[in-house]
Amino acid sequence: MHHYIDEYADELGPAKIVHLYDPVTQLKAIVVLDNLSLGPSIGGCRMAPDVTTREVFRLARAMTLKNAINFLPYGGGKSSILADSKSPDKEKMIEVYAEMIRHLPEYIPGPDMGTDENSMAMIKDKIGRAVGLPASKGGLPLDELGTTGFGVAVAADVAAEKTGLHLKGARVTIQGFGNVGKAAAKLLIERGASIIAVSDSKGTLVNNSGLDLPTLLNAVDQGKKVAETGLGQAMDRDGIIEVETDIFVPAARPDVIHPDNQGRLKARLILEGANIPITHDAAAQLHARGITIVPDVIANGGGVTCAVCELEGLSKEKMFDRIQNNITRNTQELLERVVSESAPPHEIADRMARERIRQAMKKK
Ligand code: NAD
Repeated sequence: MHHYIDEYADELGPAKIVHLYDPVTQLKAIVVLDNLSLGPSIGGCRMAPDVTTREVFRLARAMTLKNAINFLPYGGGKSSILADSKSPDKEKMIEVYAEMIRHLPEYIPGPDMGTDENSMAMIKDKIGRAVGLPASKGGLPLDELGTTGFGVAVAADVAAEKTGLHLKGARVTIQGFGNVGKAAAKLLIERGASIIAVSDSKGTLVNNSGLDLPTLLNAVDQGKKVAETGLGQAMDRDGIIEVETDIFVPAARPDVIHPDNQGRLKARLILEGANIPITHDAAAQLHARGITIVPDVIANGGGVTCAVCELEGLSKEKMFDRIQNNITRNTQELLERVVSESAPPHEIADRMARERIRQAMKKK
């Protein structure tokens, strides 16, 4: 007989796999509460018709590790409403979903693909729990505040110092020019770096003398794609990987660097703004080539840290301090242990997260 729990169960979880069904509207949802030793679980709520239980479990596990490594007193969870987010009944479905999770107090939802701050405001109004709220409801708007890009820049400070790379004058390439990429670009320029290439879903823009960021941001805000702005040389989308650089920031999609194209990447330091932008095999190859990588769970922890600060009612200033302190501490420990334990960075980050969870489990 097949039980999901047999398939996934390991030393960390999952504590609960819940399939929810509302017979009146026939709405279905999946919630996975993975490890709860650090506290109630926090993780996004997706809305898409084709998300599988396995996917929700894997995303919940990723949250377990991300929350733990970022010193957040929360476990990992994730959920999915199995419906089309473009449906005209979206609001009604969010309300039904809120009722469905009312009696799962160990799960605090946040926005994810197909849901947004307004969805979270509705859930919070109904059951008193949700993060990623609009500012008018006491939220700290993590994208507007550029929190993840801020964390990427903090990781850059520490990694540059540890590796003897000077940010002043360093060349930076950024794949993906959205919330994370734009905020990272601004802050790296403030540190004296030069952004020599950026890309989006349609193309790459290169300017070896350094892109004029305010003009570029203006053009992009008006709806232009980066390669159409005329602010440098246009290349195809994946050409960004081949632009020789000091720092490469993948901030677009998962799995964009894999064993077949990692050899084309010429950088000294990679800061993972996106989630799993580099497959683990490719990351090990890049590490073997002497390229320093700060993995996603550390480099892009700014967003989730902001969400937790919102939940705890902290001010913007305290939130940025917490991101700064945690990412500094983590990046330092990571780079020291990569050397002392001679293991690739993703393996060390995984060890760091698991050690923190095991310690909490022992205490419990
Ligand atoms: P976004 O939607 O604001 O921007 C994504 C950008 O990537 C856009 O410019 C898009 O055109 C571009 N893009 C898409 N496919 C591309 C491709 N194949 N090559 C190059 N560019 C491509 O998203 P975001 O909020 O900036 O998030 C970026 C990534 O970081 C996502 O994977 C997200 O899951 C992850 N992330 C985001 C946060 C956050 O706080 N926003 C936190 C942690 C992780």
